[in-house]
Amino acid sequence: MTKHFFARQYLNQLFNVLTDLGYQVVGPTMKDGAIVFTELARVEQLPWGWQEVAKPGHYQLTPSRKNRCFAWNTGPQALKPWLFKPEQPLWQAEQTEQGLCFHQAPAKVPPIAVVGLRGCDLAALKLQDQHFIHGPYPDPYYQAQREQLFIIAVNCAQSAETCFCVSTGDGPAATHSFDLLLDELEDGYLIGVGSEQGQAVFQQLTLGQQATIDQLDIAQQQLADASQQQRHMPDEHSLLKLTENLEHPQWQDVADRCLACGNCTLVCPTCFCSKQESTSDIKLQQAEQVRLWDSCFSEQHGYIAGKLFRPEIRHRYRQWLLHKLANWQQQYGRSGCVGCGRCISWCPVGIDLVAEAQTLLEGSPHESAHR
Ligand code: SF4
Ligand code: SF4
Repeated sequence: MTKHFFARQYLNQLFNVLTDLGYQVVGPTMKDGAIVFTELARVEQLPWGWQEVAKPGHYQLTPSRKNRCFAWNTGPQALKPWLFKPEQPLWQAEQTEQGLCFHQAPAKVPPIAVVGLRGCDLAALKLQDQHFIHGPYPDPYYQAQREQLFIIAVNCAQSAETCFCVSTGDGPAATHSFDLLLDELEDGYLIGVGSEQGQAVFQQLTLGQQATIDQLDIAQQQLADASQQQRHMPDEHSLLKLTENLEHPQWQDVADRCLACGNCTLVCPTCFCSKQESTSDIKLQQAEQVRLWDSCFSEQHGYIAGKLFRPEIRHRYRQWLLHKLANWQQQYGRSGCVGCGRCISWCPVGIDLVAEAQTLLEGSPHESAHR
């Protein structure tokens, strides 16, 4: 891929071109002590000069000596809530003189350009596409936003302690599904094109010269640095063997620590469980059906035909880990984990699924994942 260089002060030109083309720019900013993706009006809203410290049960932003805006890896969420919305109206019903009328909720959405997605985020997007678009029942709401999505990915220049995308094959480089790709350097950015839409935006930028060999070497070295990760998920073939260990004592060990709060499933960029709820007005004249995010850690998620199928936390943790790491392979052709590490840092008790998977496979409780 040919890459061009532009100085940091020209980043706002990219925002302006996207806005002029009708995109709402969405990207990372600092809010409530975390990096969150939100609508951005100016490049000044990006998290300049901040980096993160992510460990099991721990996430903290700290000032960085480098004045970069992508010197972090993962906030609690990135793209998922923009495509698979936490609350999605499905239909409304109203009593009329002619009887009960139903209206499907419209799927019309504005075009968005999302800046700052990483290799793991794009791998998660591909998995969600498989589920929401290429499955037997395409989701019109996901599909509508997916068709109106422009992606500006960023290669990671560092890894958090919780990252393990190298072992899942999903990072630290962004290799697919983007329109434009950035490498952040000390004084500016390398930019490459990944699609026709990306080329159309690129042509409107009045960028400087093609990247020099030195600049390309620095970007390559940053990726090499980011590839030095502490955690390594076992390979997919080994993960399939998890289904042979259904009665392993480690399931109870982890259940004794797990709060069944569902944080891990909410922050996971590939999880897609949902439930539906109905509401009506007090006169029973109007009603609405809404789809909400759900979690396999919720007791009610396993309630079918008058029976709780996963009554204990042990059963729910086992469902989460086995589905994510083993059964997805049969369902979607690969594990459902892209190595982002979010579930590790946002678990309030610091449960580490890499360590749990290794223990379950090797039969040696509490063996370290730091290998
Ligand atoms: S299971 Fe955890 S590490 Fe894997 S993709 Fe989900 S949140 Fe990221
Ligand atoms: S593993 Fe952690 S985040 Fe997930 S449900 Fe249990 S306590 Fe909550």
